[in-house]
Amino acid sequence: TNASSSNFIKNIITEDVESGKVKEVVTRFPPEPNGYLHIGHAKSIWLNFTMADEFGGRTNLRFDDTNPVKEDIEYVESIKRDVQWLGFKWDGLFFASDYFGKMYERAQLLIRKGLAYVDDQTADQIRETRGTLTEPGKPSPWRDRPVEENLDLFRRMKEGEFPDGSKVLRAKIDMASPNINMRDPVLYRILHAHHHNTGDEWCIYPMYAYAHPLEDAIEGVTHSICTTEFEDQRPFYDWVVRECEMPNVPRQYEFGRLNLTNTVTSKRKLRALVEEKVVDGWDDPRMPTVSGLRRKGYTPEAIREFMAATGVSKGYGEVDQRMLEHYIREDLKLRALRTMAVLDPLKVVITNYPEGQSEMLDIENNSENPDMGTRQIPFSREIYIEREDFMENPPAKYFRLFPGNEVRLKSAYFIKCEEVVKDADGNVIELRCTYDPETKSGSGFTGRKVKGTIHWVDAMQAVPAEFRLYEPLFTADLEEEGALNPNSLQLLQGFVEPGMKEARAGDKFQFFRHGYFNVDPKDSAPGRIVFNRIVSLKSSFEV
Ligand code: ATP
Ligand code: MG
Ligand code: MG
Repeated sequence: TNASSSNFIKNIITEDVESGKVKEVVTRFPPEPNGYLHIGHAKSIWLNFTMADEFGGRTNLRFDDTNPVKEDIEYVESIKRDVQWLGFKWDGLFFASDYFGKMYERAQLLIRKGLAYVDDQTADQIRETRGTLTEPGKPSPWRDRPVEENLDLFRRMKEGEFPDGSKVLRAKIDMASPNINMRDPVLYRILHAHHHNTGDEWCIYPMYAYAHPLEDAIEGVTHSICTTEFEDQRPFYDWVVRECEMPNVPRQYEFGRLNLTNTVTSKRKLRALVEEKVVDGWDDPRMPTVSGLRRKGYTPEAIREFMAATGVSKGYGEVDQRMLEHYIREDLKLRALRTMAVLDPLKVVITNYPEGQSEMLDIENNSENPDMGTRQIPFSREIYIEREDFMENPPAKYFRLFPGNEVRLKSAYFIKCEEVVKDADGNVIELRCTYDPETKSGSGFTGRKVKGTIHWVDAMQAVPAEFRLYEPLFTADLEEEGALNPNSLQLLQGFVEPGMKEARAGDKFQFFRHGYFNVDPKDSAPGRIVFNRIVSLKSSFEV
C-alpha cells in the first residue's frame, strides 16, 4: 500500500462502523441505463462493492431510470453483464422507476407541508429567473399558490391533462440561497413518453436530484457514494431526505472521478463514436468501455488491481493510461502461454533439411513459470519468420538475419542466410538458408555463438491468423477537431503455431516480442483466428 492507494471513503465507513452509527453498510451502484459502462463506472462499481464487502454489508445494483427518453433495455442487460464480469454480485436489483409511486406520494407530502408548488413558467423562464452566483433568483409568480390548488394541479399533471413543458413541480426553498441548487429546484416535469419499465403509466417524471436521495433512503443505503460534481447537490439531497420524512437517512459522499490520460470517459461522447461508426460498436477494443476492454483482452482481476492501486480521493487527477496496461501485463505474465506468432511473414526454405521430413521440438510454455511445463512444436524444411527480422543491407549492430549471417531460431537450430529470392519488382519474397543440425536447442552445443535469436513458425502446419494492433483513438486533445488517430487499428495477416487451433474466444497468450493477445470473441472463425493485441510487452511506465 502506498500513498496513492489511500481511500478516504473507507476511513469514513470505518469510523461509522466503529462508532456504532452504522450497523450494516449498504451501498449501491446507480447507473443510468443510457449507454454502456466505461472504465470510470468500473471505478464506482469497484468502490461501492468492495466497501460493502469489506464491512460485511450489501450493495444494490439500481438502475436510475428516471429519464425515459434516452434509456433502453439493451443498456440494462449490458450493465448487468459488465458488473458480473468485473466480479461483483449485487444483493438487490432495483429500478428507480419501481419507486415512482412512492416518489409521487412524497411529493404530495411536500406540497401539503407548503414545500412544493406547481409552476406554470416555461423551462427558459425558470432558468432565466434562477439568478447567478452574485444575484439572487426571482420568485415565480406561482410560488404562493395555495396548497389545495397545488395538490389539484399536480394530480392533473399526473393524469395527463397538460402538455409537455407546460408545468413543473418545484420545491419551495430559498430563491436567494447562495447555493443555486437550493433555489426552488424542479422536482417533476411533464413528459408524455414511453418508459422501458413502466410503459405509459406515467407522464410526469421525477428529476434526478429529487429521485436519487429517495431511492437511497427507500433501499436503506447508508453511504451514497458519488463523484465530486454532485458536491453542490448535497444540501438538497439532505433536504429531500429530511422533508420527505424518510425513516432511513443516507449520507452522500463525493470522490474524484477517474480520468485516464488520452481517454474519453463520457457516455455521450462514446455514444457519438458508435453512432457515427467511428468504431465497430460499444465493444470495439479501442473503446474504454468495460465491454471494449473485455473484448480487447483485459481481465477483471487486472481492472480491480488497477482500481485499488489508484486509490480514492476528493481531488481531480488524471491517471496515466499506461498504469492500466501495467496491471494487465502483471496479471498475464505468469499465466499466459508464451508462443510464437509471425505477424508479417517471410518464407524461409532450409535447403539442407530433408524434403518431406519434419520433427517435433520442445519449448517451454512460460519461461518465467516452469510450472506451466513444456510443449512440442513442429519444425521442417519451410518456416515463416518476421519480415522485420531480415535486412538485405543491415546497419551496424543488426544481429538478426542478413545475407551470410547466422542466427538462432528460438528453441530450434542456427540458420544461415545463403540466398535472397525477389519478385520482378525487387521485393524480397523468400530466403534460402542452411541449418546446422549440431546446434539443436538443448543439445548443449557450445561450438560457436550467434548474437541474434528470432522467432518462427513451421510453414507446413502453421495456422493462419489475423492480428489487430491498436493505438489510441485520439492523437491529441480530445475536444480538438481532427484529433482522430488514423492508425488506431492496424490489421496484419500472419501465422501462429499449430497448437493454437485449439484456442477459444477469450483465451490470452503472450506472443514473443509482440505482446499479449486475446482471441477475439466476435470475429474469430474456425480456420481463421483473430487476435486482438491487449498490450505490447514493454513500457517505460513504473508504478
Ligand atoms: P457519464 O458522464 O459518462 O454519462 P454518468 O455519471 O452520467 O457518466 P451514470 O450512469 O449516472 O453515468 O453513472 C453511474 C455511477 O458511475 C455514478 O455514481 C457516477 O458518479 C459513476 N461514475 C461515472 N463516471 C465515473 C468516473 N469517471 N469515475 C468514477 N465514477 C464514475
Ligand atoms: Mg448520471
Ligand atoms: Mg451522464
